[in-house]
Amino acid sequence: MNYELIVGLEIHAQLITETKAFCRCPNRYGDPPNTLICPTCLGMPGTLPVLNEAIVRQAARLALSLGATIHPRCKFDRKNYFYPDLPKGYQISQYDEPFSTDGFLTIECNGSFKDIRITRAHIEEDAGKSMHQPDGSTVVDMNRCGVPLVEIVTEPDFRTPEEAGAFVSAIRELLRYVEVCDGNMERGSLRCDVNISVRPAGQAALNERSEIKNLNSIRAVEKAIRSEKERQIAVYASGGAIQRETLLWDEAVEELRPMRRKEGSDDYRYFPEPDLVELCVSPEYVENVRNELPEFPWERRRRYRKDLELHEEAVSLLASDRELGDYFEKLLTLGVEPRSAANWMQGEVRRHLTDQNLTIGQFPVSPQDLTELIQFVQQDAVSLTQAKDVFRKMLAKKCSARDIIRDEGMMQSQNAGEIESVIRSLLQKHPHEVERYRSGKKNVMGFFMGEAMKATGGKANPKMLSRLLEDMLKA
Ligand SMILES: [Zn+2]
Repeated sequence: MNYELIVGLEIHAQLITETKAFCRCPNRYGDPPNTLICPTCLGMPGTLPVLNEAIVRQAARLALSLGATIHPRCKFDRKNYFYPDLPKGYQISQYDEPFSTDGFLTIECNGSFKDIRITRAHIEEDAGKSMHQPDGSTVVDMNRCGVPLVEIVTEPDFRTPEEAGAFVSAIRELLRYVEVCDGNMERGSLRCDVNISVRPAGQAALNERSEIKNLNSIRAVEKAIRSEKERQIAVYASGGAIQRETLLWDEAVEELRPMRRKEGSDDYRYFPEPDLVELCVSPEYVENVRNELPEFPWERRRRYRKDLELHEEAVSLLASDRELGDYFEKLLTLGVEPRSAANWMQGEVRRHLTDQNLTIGQFPVSPQDLTELIQFVQQDAVSLTQAKDVFRKMLAKKCSARDIIRDEGMMQSQNAGEIESVIRSLLQKHPHEVERYRSGKKNVMGFFMGEAMKATGGKANPKMLSRLLEDMLKA
């Protein structure tokens, strides 16, 4: 029997803010355990949460980027459960009146486009982190308690593991573009849970689903879906039934392990958070946020394809990373021609970033300095091969193209008078070759080019040299 795969995703994205969601503790990664905490985020009796406006702004940026509706009023709810990393005994989340609903994100998978519907994107706070020790004990770090999150829930619109992978990739790209989340899956600032079921092809009703947690790479998302699809098909094939359950992806062995029976929403005993008033978002606020949004990745991609007519490889490189694209655009505003700027970005710049494992933010050559170098090539002052050599020296010596070209005497001679006098003495020295040229042996040109280059120490601009040489041979 043929089975159809049905997948929906839940994405948790940690918001980029100075402080946590409901207290003034810093929102940072990597500090010593249990140092970024206060009575509020630990849920001590007598403390009260205060909503951080920055998370509303970030949630609004994301919602607008997804084309979702931001509701004028929404409220917060308590999601109750017991776990060692949750000292309050509940998470502040949003249940039946979320911040935003009904968005979509277009993915590109195997050359075709598909709109994935976003059910909702709501605000909530993160829990702490349990760390299992080699001796079998478990320790907890509460620094993450109260870190602001948005949870993005999709409709079950994915039919292949690759589509789900493409979505995670697209949402990560978008979150970084609009500076809502750093998208770092290894550190857990972007986490992905997968809901998965299979049904016989042609059946309308959905079968029971399982949920997979702990997926910290796009590759893991795709592998886990493939593995769970096969497991479910095997269960049905042997006459069994799928139970609602939560599975953990074990990255080390690339296997799924059962974690717990999945709670329904009843088990969480949601109720309205009594310590926070409802959140009202005015149309003016939404418009302000909309006006601050940068160009979206798909808009940039379209512009690079249509207006700049870049090759597909350049488009996908320069539009997938906003900072890289911004650097490229700086080159354009400084006067570099788009194709040439794209070639430098794809070639020398990318090679250096990859070799040194750097982001463009850490790249030591400024757009101004790179533009100067590219312009030396455009003006035929140095050849492209020389320019690549200069580029390496700029990185090694940390100085400008102008200084290197001057210090190494690389500048091609632009002085027509100087080149003319070299040619004149060559013609006098080789009257026989001049005669041969004039009698129709055009290949003698190569001989004179070589001699002239030797005489100028290779610094003559080849285009200018050949033009002058031709003129003077004909004269
Ligand atoms: Zn705190």
